[in-house]
Amino acid sequence: MKILVVNCGSSSLKYQLIDMDGEKMLAKGLCERIGVDGHFEGKTPDGRKTENNNILNNHTEAFMEVKKALTEGETKVIDSLDEIDAIGHRIVQGGALFNDSVLVTEEVKKGIESLIDLAPLHNAAHLQGINACQEVFGMDKPEVVVFDNAFHSTMPPKAFIFPVPYEYYEKYKVRRYGFHGTSHRYVSKRLSEIWGTSLEGKKVIVAHIGNGSSLSAIKDGKVIDTTMGITPLDGFIMGSRCGGVDPSAITYIQAKEGLTPAETDQMMNKKSGLLGISGVSSDMRDVEKAAADGNERAQLALDILEYQVTKYMGAFVAALGGVDAICFTAGVGENSPSLRQAVCENLSFLGIEIDADRNRIRGEELKISTENSKVEVYVIPTNEELMIARDTREIVEKL
Ligand code: ADP
Repeated sequence: MKILVVNCGSSSLKYQLIDMDGEKMLAKGLCERIGVDGHFEGKTPDGRKTENNNILNNHTEAFMEVKKALTEGETKVIDSLDEIDAIGHRIVQGGALFNDSVLVTEEVKKGIESLIDLAPLHNAAHLQGINACQEVFGMDKPEVVVFDNAFHSTMPPKAFIFPVPYEYYEKYKVRRYGFHGTSHRYVSKRLSEIWGTSLEGKKVIVAHIGNGSSLSAIKDGKVIDTTMGITPLDGFIMGSRCGGVDPSAITYIQAKEGLTPAETDQMMNKKSGLLGISGVSSDMRDVEKAAADGNERAQLALDILEYQVTKYMGAFVAALGGVDAICFTAGVGENSPSLRQAVCENLSFLGIEIDADRNRIRGEELKISTENSKVEVYVIPTNEELMIARDTREIVEKL
């Protein structure tokens, strides 16, 4: 079974074609600047590539570009779209409506539409993507939606209710939803495969640290708390996002600078985090390099990241009442031995001990704690696309 996994943003479309027999990626690519002008890149794992700047007026035209890359020319991997059995979409916000992946129906589309208010940038684009797929692939091609917050739907109210007047929860559904759920689910499932047991009775922290970052506390295989909130902004310092700060600091800056709500959002999401502190970049590699070259604000940004990850880990160990394993994942979690080492050393009072040699690993799965360590520490590369493809297969096989 071949499944196309897509992630539609307002001006972008990322895709992967996955052959579920052997769970192999056959092709992947990216359409950018949809509705602006257009850019397309497609590649295959054996190194074939295609790229163009054809105008992409909308997501339908973007999908036509994907179709061309998959079925023609240098990057051809299939003869026709008929070979694709189903499409799996990443959806950021499922609110409290969806706590599992589902087949797309008119009712499901209405549900996603009803949540646009909660994630205006994302859900509207996802709907455009679903409709464009129906145009390009036909109404009969099964489409499945996989929600970023679904895995966090097991959080208890004490973890997801914000202590603002309760009426805002009732009126507007303002609460913690959490994100990166597909990644947290993939990594915790992988851990249970490594252990060869279910996660029943186990306490696990997954640290997804990338451009966007979140931690989740997982007890008996179920999320009991996570750092992201109603949007992917809460929690700790990220590439260009501020994470949690005193809410009054934001209204104060807003008043002083005369910022509109949209400008304030922009400031918190795009100008803060590693970028805002270092003034160098939102990219961890650039910040690490600048710090090594003696840039003090870059070093401060790294210190804040290390400190805040440590602090949230401590909080989640307390929330879980202990911890059996910590798993690092995503761009920074998989590739920054120095951050992993620093955080684990800060937590050495828990009996955590890292094997320095093993911790040199980048982007590969490995247990990095020593045999004596009281807590097992792993690097587990995430694979959200594969998780979406697996959900899609499971749903489509039952049709
Ligand atoms: P996204 O949240 O956009 O999916 P990723 O999970 O791909 O992001 O993470 C991107 C981050 O990972 C960037 O800050 C990048 O610098 C960092 N990263 C990637 N490779 C390395 C590396 N070798 N060393 C340190 N950081 C890295």
